[in-house]
Amino acid sequence: HLELFDIELAFGEHSVVHHLSLSLEQGRIGCLLGPSGCGKTTVLRCIAGFERVKSGRILLDGNLVSSSETHLAPERRRIGMVFQDYALFPHLTIAENIGFGLRDIRSGERNGRVRELLALVGLLGQGNKYPHEMSGGQQQRVALARALAPRPRLLLLDEPFSNLDVELRERLSHEVRDIIKATHTTAVLVTHDQHEAFAVADEIGIMNRGRIQQWDTPYNLYHRPANRFVADFIGQGV
Ligand code: ATP
Repeated sequence: HLELFDIELAFGEHSVVHHLSLSLEQGRIGCLLGPSGCGKTTVLRCIAGFERVKSGRILLDGNLVSSSETHLAPERRRIGMVFQDYALFPHLTIAENIGFGLRDIRSGERNGRVRELLALVGLLGQGNKYPHEMSGGQQQRVALARALAPRPRLLLLDEPFSNLDVELRERLSHEVRDIIKATHTTAVLVTHDQHEAFAVADEIGIMNRGRIQQWDTPYNLYHRPANRFVADFIGQGV
């Protein structure tokens, strides 16, 4: 369960996120969708703990992780991440990549978990290959498996498909949704691509200039836009 209350964030004098609140129940997939520069990545980096908030609060499963006084380190938040530039380790096999975050558990248990994840992302039997032997889409499925392996309480995805061609992007969007849903993980996706957002998310926040204009289901955003910006933004993508 992820909750953001009235988040404000600035880089020096430059205020980037304003009065941002959202709540995502366990197992739901949310998406921040908006034009380039609106602050989507910054919000994700705040949730991950890479940026400090100026004011407001972030709670994970009811525990305070960020406020003006509190800042839990990123590695202690139990958050999994799939970023566009968060590449696989080239010198490790697919299985080693997936097991990377499981170094502290016994090898028998770890191998079982890696096999489970390989099966989940449709790559069973390919664990001994190296990243360069896999396609771009397969590599992103491995990145997803690696992020999910330690059973994070939240998964963050930042433009995970933007380096892929349009057809693959569409297919992978649906696959990724199914994989996340199978693990009941709460997730937040950031994208500027409306098709991707609609394919993956249960709830979408349309962002502009550091504010969420409307947080709603894809159906409501399409049929009941709250304002002109949302209507125009959704209209352009159709
Ligand atoms: P894109 O899709 O292009 O990545 P975005 O919606 O994710 O855009 P952000 O990357 O969050 O937007 O950037 C929001 C604003 O914050 C922009 O005006 C950007 O220039 C500014 N910004 C981001 N990171 C920093 C930083 N480290 N220092 C100063 N300003 C920053």
